[in-house]
Amino acid sequence: MNILIFGPNGSGKGTQGAIIQDKFNIAHIESGAIFRQNIGGGTELGKKAKEYIDRGDLVPDDITIPMILDRLKEDDCKNGWLLDGFPRNKVQAETLAKALQDENMKLDYVIEIVLPRDIAKLRITGRRLCENDNNHPNHIAFDAIKPVEKDGELVCRVCGGKLSTRADDQDEAAIDKRHDIYYDENTGTMAAVNYFKNLGGDTKVISVDGSGSIGEVTDAILKELK
Ligand code: AMP
Repeated sequence: MNILIFGPNGSGKGTQGAIIQDKFNIAHIESGAIFRQNIGGGTELGKKAKEYIDRGDLVPDDITIPMILDRLKEDDCKNGWLLDGFPRNKVQAETLAKALQDENMKLDYVIEIVLPRDIAKLRITGRRLCENDNNHPNHIAFDAIKPVEKDGELVCRVCGGKLSTRADDQDEAAIDKRHDIYYDENTGTMAAVNYFKNLGGDTKVISVDGSGSIGEVTDAILKELK
């Protein structure tokens, strides 16, 4: 099963992605997480990407597109993949569609989590990253994924691992820029969403309201995924 998942920063896309990955045993490929791993590991790719990410800008397509297309060819994608954070603009959408066609890869579902910009913004500053596993979502404002306290410190509710915040989540200018890019229907991420929604063929589009609880959003998505 191959899936694209879209949603603005703060929509719970990563949380839902982790649930879908678990349920269907498919690879969860998160472009932002790949960049953060490279930054943490001090790689050349990480060094190139860091300045863009800190500002909330997109990392240039000539770095991002090959990184993701190569990732889709790895062994763990044979059982299917869930692509999260890519494509993020129209060029990436068109390039991905062509690559899938060339590789004879089917796109089964496009999931769109719909959330107004003001609500998405409010949600961003409360998220916490588990340093052990990117698929352990934590958020200080949501009971279902609230971190737990240990020795006076908040730790990951799944594994007890150390938690951190993302620099670009605490910087209002970077949050606004990411949302400008997401909601841009001409060349930004909404252009990519609309491109895939209008592609036709066998791809099923699932649009869900992201303003409910985590469980409600999960139920709305899983009802449509067969
Ligand atoms: P995310 O974790 O999805 O919020 O991504 C964090 C940051 O990584 C973004 O603000 C961008 O700077 C960069 N990034 C992630 N995905 C892409 C992409 N598809 N194209 C360009 N830059 C990206």
